[in-house]
Amino acid sequence: MTALTLESLTKIFPNGTVAVDGVDLAVADGEVMVLLGPSGCGKSTLLRMIAGLEDPTEGLIRFDDEIANDWSPRQRRVAMAFQDFALYPHMSVRGNLSFPLKLAKHTPDAVSERVADLATALGVGDTLERRPGQLSGGQKQRVAMGRAIIREPKVFLLDEPLSNLDSALRAGLRAEISTLLRGVGVTTVYVTHDQTEALTMADRVTILRDGRVQQIGAPNEVYRTPATLFVAGFLGTPRMNLLWATVYAYLDDRVLLDLGRQHLSLPWSDPRVRDLARYHGEEIVVGLRAEAVSPAAPDTPGSLRGTIRYVEHLGHETIAYLDIGARAAGAEEQAGAGHQAPSEEPAGKRRWWRRRPEPARTEQAD
Ligand code: ATP
Repeated sequence: MTALTLESLTKIFPNGTVAVDGVDLAVADGEVMVLLGPSGCGKSTLLRMIAGLEDPTEGLIRFDDEIANDWSPRQRRVAMAFQDFALYPHMSVRGNLSFPLKLAKHTPDAVSERVADLATALGVGDTLERRPGQLSGGQKQRVAMGRAIIREPKVFLLDEPLSNLDSALRAGLRAEISTLLRGVGVTTVYVTHDQTEALTMADRVTILRDGRVQQIGAPNEVYRTPATLFVAGFLGTPRMNLLWATVYAYLDDRVLLDLGRQHLSLPWSDPRVRDLARYHGEEIVVGLRAEAVSPAAPDTPGSLRGTIRYVEHLGHETIAYLDIGARAAGAEEQAGAGHQAPSEEPAGKRRWWRRRPEPARTEQAD
């Protein structure tokens, strides 16, 4: 087992594109680290540098305590699997799984034992004599992953392995791959731009933007306490509402934020609300997740009034979009344009804040 450490890792392509910009990252032994970010944020380039397929412009890659920058891909003993896993079509599942072990000159007994164990773990134990053409998409994917990890790599690198599958299959395979990775216990770096995949499969998630780390943390942590506006806007469906507000007044047990046309009233008992005292009179950005909002009876104290603009019926949930007369913040962040995150602005000026998923109420006026 191997721990993987990246120090100030940077990749600048000859055309001047800075694909990865000073990334520091430590992946523990056996940990599943997911790299998440929008298209072009540098995920694949980072993965390719770890694999030894791309030379870093600057920075260090360590496998345990050893600097691996000059190691060949083979010396690194990484296994890499991509979205378009290729299996040998003329070989059975057994043949495909055995192949890497035969190349490594394992004894026939050792090969068949390992293949049987792994095939069972992958849930393809009863397909060993079939050819890839006789497998479902999900089974193919699992066999291909099995083939990548059968030689017990030090580090397993996966680049969008589920992106070519339909959504039902993806959902099923998420859980299976997650169980498999933990069962095998191999240190894994998993690239995806799909946040559901990231949040469900990761021990920790690294959120990247423009080649830089925005936040590293457990799925719950990055969702509940995003470190930047970008992370706040990027994680969650529907996206978090980010609203400009002015810290306006303090009542006995509540703080009032001026949203423009109405006030948002927050309980003083929430420690993050107490923190707002420092910004009295200042403009901040408040993050409000849809799941924190619930309908309230007319004129309930502390409720917001809004006009429903449109409604999406999604079967298991219905999403109503309301105009509450507030100014949306962070649209440029959400669109991925190159604006500065407020966290990078002078301290104390523009701060953003996110409330707990409890008492916000929204009255449906129309
Ligand atoms: P996606 O999710 O779309 O696969 P990504 O996050 O994996 O994107 P990368 O493929 O790592 O992003 O690319 C990061 C940036 O580097 C992009 O702007 C891309 O255009 C650029 N890039 C990638 N490879 C090269 C190359 N060989 N030469 C020049 N620029 C490159």
